[in-house]
Amino acid sequence: TRRKTRSDSRIRKQRSSLTLGLSKLNGLYREVILDHADHPHNKGELTTTTNAMTLHNPTCGDTINLQVEVEDNKIKNIAYTGDGCTISQASASMMTDAVKGKTTEEALAMAKTFSDMAIGKEHSEADLDQLGDARILTSIMEFPARIKCATLSWWALQRALLKDSEEEENNE
Ligand code: ZN
Repeated sequence: TRRKTRSDSRIRKQRSSLTLGLSKLNGLYREVILDHADHPHNKGELTTTTNAMTLHNPTCGDTINLQVEVEDNKIKNIAYTGDGCTISQASASMMTDAVKGKTTEEALAMAKTFSDMAIGKEHSEADLDQLGDARILTSIMEFPARIKCATLSWWALQRALLKDSEEEENNE
């Protein structure tokens, strides 16, 4: 409870900035987004990293440093650090939850589904279900100014995973 005052003011600040941009978003969606932002999953650094990528979204000031540990073509571990708006941080929490334990191909397909949704392409229910909580953020596409915030972590994942396969090709 000693930390309460500080975290309360931090949460209030996040909440007010979110409300400005997303007041029209469905209330349940907003709750899930705030929960990920306030209690992020997989935030921190890995001890073993095989793939990494840092991306910035200059229009909003978001930064994501993504670390992935790929073993036997599966995402064994994934973590991120960074800061920025509530949407960018909640998206990183949701994305890392969704792809942990998946094969790199599955994770890249999920990143493509998310990016496709960002530009208004339709996807099957099955594809969307794969995204877990991240599916909620596809509704952010109604707010064009926030699309980059939501897609930043998925782009970081894509770049991190693809960089690895390029390196393998160069080594051969
Ligand atoms: Zn942002």
